[in-house]
Amino acid sequence: MIYLDWAATSLIDPASVEVATVSYLTESQNPSALYQSGQKIAKRIQENRSKLAQALCCQPDQLYFCGSATEANNIVVTSFFNLQPASIITSPLEHAAVYHPLQRLKQHGWKIIEAPINSLGQIKREALPSLIEENTVALFAIAACNETGSIEAIKELSMLIATINQNRKRKIHFHSDMVQALGKEKIDLSTLKVDSASFSGHKIGAIRGGALLYLKKPLIPFYDGGGQEKGIRSGTENVGAIESLTFSTIKMIDSLPANQDRYLQLKKRLIEGIFDLKQKGEIYLLPTEDPTLLQNQQYFLPNLLQISIPPLPSEVLVRLFDSKGVELSGGSACSNNSKKKVMRIAQAMKYPDRIAKSTLRISFGPSSTIQEIEALLQIIENEIFPLAKKF
Ligand code: PLP
Repeated sequence: MIYLDWAATSLIDPASVEVATVSYLTESQNPSALYQSGQKIAKRIQENRSKLAQALCCQPDQLYFCGSATEANNIVVTSFFNLQPASIITSPLEHAAVYHPLQRLKQHGWKIIEAPINSLGQIKREALPSLIEENTVALFAIAACNETGSIEAIKELSMLIATINQNRKRKIHFHSDMVQALGKEKIDLSTLKVDSASFSGHKIGAIRGGALLYLKKPLIPFYDGGGQEKGIRSGTENVGAIESLTFSTIKMIDSLPANQDRYLQLKKRLIEGIFDLKQKGEIYLLPTEDPTLLQNQQYFLPNLLQISIPPLPSEVLVRLFDSKGVELSGGSACSNNSKKKVMRIAQAMKYPDRIAKSTLRISFGPSSTIQEIEALLQIIENEIFPLAKKF
């Protein structure tokens, strides 16, 4: 099987599984217990926090371990339930883990404003000031979109919000979902100046169940429990997942330049191959057909490419590729792939319907190879195009 769906979840790094396994076998007592073994594990958790803080350029006490990025995002969004309904601005390209909880706020009287985006999927910064109202309390802007691969200008946005906040009594909280950005671009929380951010271990080779919430300052969570993670995320700590998350985060950050180079080589070949295929069938690169822009890491993730092969619907394409030995996804595979969810972001990007219905996401990881890309291109030419022409 050729796995080209790393943005949904990465193939697990055996070394990271080993780190988790050793932890589960030797650190299984409750870290909140008063006896020595528990205290020792609590210390290990703190050591992991410090290592991660160093890797992400923040303070250890600004990091909170969670079970998933979905949970990390929800902790931030649902904290607003502590306030009277007000106004929130969001990017229309948010993952479901931000979009859906924001919709829930909306059902409770909150005003959720979607910022306009440009054709590359970035928020139009010049439009932001006019969207901000006296009671605007937050901006949610995903750092790298899991469907289009668009990279948001988080630093510039954060500077804009900081300037606007200077003259405001009611400060705007800036949250960024950095799940797809981790391990694909440099993340320095000391310069990004966001108020909160989320990260997930299973996107970078770690085992599932380990994720991270960065909070510049603590917030009041909507839900409560035993008070672990300073009450921000109650629940007995999953130490094995924490160890695995730390191991994989540091590994991915250390190998970032080498991985970026590799990903860009694969992406370059894929783009070239798709341009050649245009002579033989209908296929589009999204959200732009400009190869220079698509390979520019200021605008797009190096390891992700969105394409469209009309008129075959995305679900049919995904099944066809699967039957030919390639696993990839239509739109966001980390959602349940229902048509409506796939279309939300395609509509925000203003893709014509015919193209939107046939989108696919190709994403690579550290063990992806050029041979896999060649095989994918062959399959499109020899297996997919003939069926697309008959459809
Ligand atoms: N945010 C983005 C951008 C994602 O791609 C995903 C993927 O599922 C998530 C959040 C949710 O992460 P998790 O599976 O850790 O809940």
